[in-house]
Amino acid sequence: MLLTPRSRRTPRISRHRKAALLASAVSVCLLAAAAPAEPLGIGDRLYPYLGNPGYDVASYDLSFTYPGRNDKPLDAVTTIDAWTTADLEHLNLDFTHGTVRSVEVDGRPADFAEAGEDLVVTPDHPLSEGSWTRITVRHTSDPVPTKDHDGGWVQTTDGLAMANQADAAHLVFPCNDHPSDKAMFTFHITAPNGYTAVANGLPAGADRVGKTTTWTYRTQHPMATELAQVSIGRSAVLHREGPHGLPMRDVVPSADAKALEPWLAKTPDQIAWMESKVGPYPFETYGVLMAQASTGFELETQTLSLFEKNLFTEPAYPQWYIESIMVHELSHQWFGDSVSPRAWSDVWLNEGHATWYEELYAEETAHRPMEDRMKAAYSASDSWREAGGPPARPKPPTPGQKIGIFRPNVYDGAALVLYALRQQIGRPAFERLERLWVRTHRDSTATTADFVRLASAVSGRDLRGFFQDWLYGEKTPPMPGHPDWKPTAPVKDAEPATSAGSRSAR
Ligand SMILES: [Zn+2]
Repeated sequence: MLLTPRSRRTPRISRHRKAALLASAVSVCLLAAAAPAEPLGIGDRLYPYLGNPGYDVASYDLSFTYPGRNDKPLDAVTTIDAWTTADLEHLNLDFTHGTVRSVEVDGRPADFAEAGEDLVVTPDHPLSEGSWTRITVRHTSDPVPTKDHDGGWVQTTDGLAMANQADAAHLVFPCNDHPSDKAMFTFHITAPNGYTAVANGLPAGADRVGKTTTWTYRTQHPMATELAQVSIGRSAVLHREGPHGLPMRDVVPSADAKALEPWLAKTPDQIAWMESKVGPYPFETYGVLMAQASTGFELETQTLSLFEKNLFTEPAYPQWYIESIMVHELSHQWFGDSVSPRAWSDVWLNEGHATWYEELYAEETAHRPMEDRMKAAYSASDSWREAGGPPARPKPPTPGQKIGIFRPNVYDGAALVLYALRQQIGRPAFERLERLWVRTHRDSTATTADFVRLASAVSGRDLRGFFQDWLYGEKTPPMPGHPDWKPTAPVKDAEPATSAGSRSAR
C-alpha cells in the first residue's frame, strides 16, 4: 500500500494469549467443559493476536448480500475449507464487527463464542489432526467504521470497496487473518440491479433473479486475506488486453469512465515494463479500481489495485508522480501479493521493492534520477530508524496512530537497503536476484532470511553481515560507493512522514 492505514484500533496485545491449545492433552480434556473461550494468535511479533493455530485454510467461499446502501450491515455466509494440523477441541477464527447468527462444522451445528476479536468455535466432536473440515458461518458484515473498527470495508460515494491491510480482513469476514495462511477465494456478491460488483480474480457468472443480481468471482492463485477486494458501486468495468493476451479489467465510476481512460490505457505498458525487469506477471488478470473515497492511501489488492479516484483528477499531482504510484501498486502484485510476507516484520520486502520499482520507473520514463532520491533517503535514514525501527525489525503500531507499521523505514528506508545491495553485488547479480526471488517464491510466502540466503547464493558472497547491519542496525551503515553520503542527526519525536511527493505515503 499506502498512505495512512486505516487501523485506529488499540492493539489487543495485552489480551493475546500465546497458543497453548495443545499444551497438555490431559488438562485439555479435564478443562474442556469449563474453559473460557480465549483469543489466540500465531505469535506475529507486530500483530500477535492475528491468525490462529491448529489449521491451514485451503479455501474461502464468501457470500455477501448488499442491501442497496452502505450504512447497513451486509448479510453474509463464509464457508471455510481447512486442513487440521493439530487435534482441536475448539477452533478459533479471527472475526469482529459483525453479528454471528450460526456456525456449522462439517454440516452439524457448532457452539460459538466471542473472545476478543476471535470467534471461538466448538464442534460437536473434536477434530483430529490431519483431516479436512468445513466451517460455515452465517453472519453480518458491518461497513460502518467506528472508533475501534476503522478498516476492512471502505464506504465510497456509490457503494463499498475493501482495504484490509494489514489486520482488517477479520472486520469483514471470519478468517485466519494472517498472510502466512494464503488460500483460494470464491466470492458471491448479491446486489440490487443497477449496481456492479467486482472482486479479485476472474468472473464466473452474473445471475439476475428478480430485482437482484449475484456476481461470482474466483481467484486462480492463492491469496492472503489482507489482499481481498470486493467493489460494489455504480461502476463501469472496462476491458482491455495486456501483454501476452492477459485479460484486464478496470473498475471506475460510470460517469468518469471517459475522463479516466487515458490513465487506464497506461497499465498494459506498465505491466510490460515490470515484466522486462522481473519476469512474467504472476496472476490471471489485472486492473485498477478507482474508488470515490477518501482513504488517504492506495492498496495492492490482488489482481485489482485500489486507488482513490482523486489521485487521477487532482491537478496538483504531476503526471510522472501518478504513474510511479500506479507502478508501485502494480509491482506489489509480484512483491507482496504473489510472494507474501511470512510475518509482518517482513513487510520491508513488500514496500522496499514497490518503492524501488516506483523510483526506477520514474528514473527510466521521467528522468527522475534514483540516486538523488537515494541520497535524500540516506540523509533521513537514521531518523526513520529511530522513529520506526530498523527496516526488518519495525516497531509495533502505536495505539491510536493510523500509520500503523507503514512508516518511511519500510518504504524509502527499505528501498535504500536494496540500493546498498545493488552497490555491493553489482547490477547484473542484483537483477538476477530479483527475477529469481519472484520465481522461486511465486504463490507462496517468504521471509527476510530467505531473501538473505538467495542474495548470498546469487552473488556468491556471504551477505549475512551486510544484511545484519542494513536491516537490523539502529544506525544506517556507510553506503558502498558513496563515502560522501552522510546521515543527518535523528530528529527527536520525528513525525512519521515520508520524503516523497505531495502525498504522505503510498
Ligand atoms: Zn506499497
